[in-house]
Amino acid sequence: ITSYIAQAMKAQCRNQLNVLFLPYPTPGHMIPMVDTARLFAKHGASATIIATQANALTFQKVIEDDFSCGYDIRTQVIPFPADQVGLPDGVENIKDSTTPEMLGQISHGISMLKDQIELLFHDLQPDCIVTDFCYPWTVESATKLGIPRLFFYSSSYFSNCVSHSIRKHRPHENLVSDTHKFIIPGLPQRIEMTPPQVAEWERTKNETTGYFDAMFESETKSYGALYNSFHELESDYEQLHQSLLGIKSWTIGPVSSWVNKDDEQKANRGHKEDLEEEPQWLNWLNSKQNESVLYVCFGSLVWLPHAQLVELAHGLEHSGHSFIWVIRKKDENENEDSFLQEFEKRMKENKKGFIIWNWAPQLLILDHPAIGGMVTHCGWNSILESVSAGLPMITWPIFAEQSYNEKLVVDVLKIGVSVGVNENTFWMSLGDEAMVRREDIVKVVMLLMGSSQEGKEMRKRARKLSDAAKRTIEEGGHSYNNLTQLIYDLKSLKISKALTEAG
Ligand code: UDP
Repeated sequence: ITSYIAQAMKAQCRNQLNVLFLPYPTPGHMIPMVDTARLFAKHGASATIIATQANALTFQKVIEDDFSCGYDIRTQVIPFPADQVGLPDGVENIKDSTTPEMLGQISHGISMLKDQIELLFHDLQPDCIVTDFCYPWTVESATKLGIPRLFFYSSSYFSNCVSHSIRKHRPHENLVSDTHKFIIPGLPQRIEMTPPQVAEWERTKNETTGYFDAMFESETKSYGALYNSFHELESDYEQLHQSLLGIKSWTIGPVSSWVNKDDEQKANRGHKEDLEEEPQWLNWLNSKQNESVLYVCFGSLVWLPHAQLVELAHGLEHSGHSFIWVIRKKDENENEDSFLQEFEKRMKENKKGFIIWNWAPQLLILDHPAIGGMVTHCGWNSILESVSAGLPMITWPIFAEQSYNEKLVVDVLKIGVSVGVNENTFWMSLGDEAMVRREDIVKVVMLLMGSSQEGKEMRKRARKLSDAAKRTIEEGGHSYNNLTQLIYDLKSLKISKALTEAG
């Protein structure tokens, strides 16, 4: 019997798909890739996630839980060269950087991992690698090993198509002024933008431009691309992307709701170490009426300038609606901000607002029935999470492709209202000024959370998309079929490679 089991296990190993996942260490990229690796394991693949120590710790618990449930998943830890780049131990994530200099050191440390990672690719002999779009060099690694590389993009098809169009046609150049609008060429819908809304490295060529060109170029050289999106959300752009790039892509989202079904999984995702033991926000939300609370969060990286925090605080207070607001502290040791302390105290007393410092269990909060809408910086994961929860949005993009995602939410899907930011600024260069005034904040909060017809229609459309998001990941749904088809394709590739090698 023992030898029978050993043989069966060997046969299983031969047939089992062995996939390596290489996430880029920033929450908006790492969280969805870890969820994707877990999905692969839940569909029979053997999944290994490569990460440095401090990053691995942020998701270790969920991986161990999955492993103990019988899924073939693990983390392969590699050391981060903290000494060599002059960083303290444990600072290994883009989220940890508080200055451009630190950001440079962390990025440099990440780039130094290349040789170690290539060695691992070689030693672990995967059948396929799924790597973040920020690692364009992995295309060549995969070619050397004779295996497919899947390009993992952590934003929308829409934003990739806009980016493609802008880099190709440069429609923002030669306009008379920055307030003049241009139409983004080649899209199925008429989408307008002003030059300052274009991502900085696409607006004017700088040293980052070449870096991004290489990343996008690596997509076309990859076996295919993986998108954390779903067909029903942006099928026009899924199609356009395929015709523009001419490569296969698999749409397999929303991955977060697919793998994080229960409350514990939702709470354990991301930076759990930053959460309080006894969640007071839950009692607070439980005391609120359904759909009466606005959730305000600017993702994992952005800190707003103090003047902007003040405007936002006044805007929320004057809107008259209840809110939960997640505020990132730039530096744990910074002097307590007396304005915000005073504001927090006042909001607690009149039960109008609840502040969560640094990190919130976003998935859990968004699914709470008391939440009625979200203010978002238009990071793709936040948009998907809001859509999955059936919530309309107030869009407040800051940097990168966030202003493109805003157009998808407001102009294409019509499930959000723009707060009116008209400049795309790298989050570390935001300056000291407020970009958005309190009266504009009041206006959009009242529109979204009040009883306006426009708000009601947005909410209705968001709910419909939420239903579609639930169906797409069920057996027979688009995302479900795409994932099973992808695993089937990769297995077929493995078998034909083995047959060729066997002669
Ligand atoms: N997130 C969270 N709690 C926070 C801030 C962010 O759980 O307090 C999660 C959020 O749910 C999302 C990710 O971090 O999954 C942020 O990704 P997104 O693409 O929205 O924005 P980014 O942080 O990359 O700007």
